Amino acid sequence: MIQIDAALADAIRQHAEREYPHECCGVLLGQLSDGPNPLEEIRKVTALHSVPNSWGEGSETRYLIAPDTMFELLTRERLGEFVILGFYHSHPDHPALPSVTDRDWAAPWYTYMIVSVPGGRSAKLSAWQLDEDGQSFINETVELLPAGGSEP
Ligand SMILES: [Zn+2]
Repeated sequence: MIQIDAALADAIRQHAEREYPHECCGVLLGQLSDGPNPLEEIRKVTALHSVPNSWGEGSETRYLIAPDTMFELLTRERLGEFVILGFYHSHPDHPALPSVTDRDWAAPWYTYMIVSVPGGRSAKLSAWQLDEDGQSFINETVELLPAGGSEP
C-alpha cells in the first residue's frame, strides 16, 4: 500500500494536465514505516520531485527522467533526506494501466503511479509494483490522506 496526501495527488493530476498531450513524469519521495502486518511496510509519499520529460520526440507515449536528476536524488537519499519510493507519469488518452514499455523499464521494489488523462482532464490514478518474477505488475492500493492531516 502507498499513502499520499490528497494535495500531492492533486499536484500529480495538475502536472499531467499541464503537460497534455505529452506524458509528465516525476519522482515520489517519502518514508517507510512498519504496517500492522510486519511483512507489509507502509510507503508514504511526503513530497514530489516533478521533472521535465527528457524523452524528446515521441513524448506523447514515452517518458524519461534525466540521469543527472536521478543521480542527484540518489545522493540525497543516501544522505538520509528521504526514501525514493517510486515514480509517477501520465497516460494521455490511455488508461491508467502499465504498458509493455512500462514493464520493460521498471525496476523491482519501486512504486509506479500512473494517471490517465483522457482529453486533457486527469481521471484515474493507480499504482503498480513489479511482481517477484519481474514479468508482470501487481496493483498497489493508493490511500489518499486528507489535506492537513499530518506533518508536511
Ligand atoms: Zn506508461
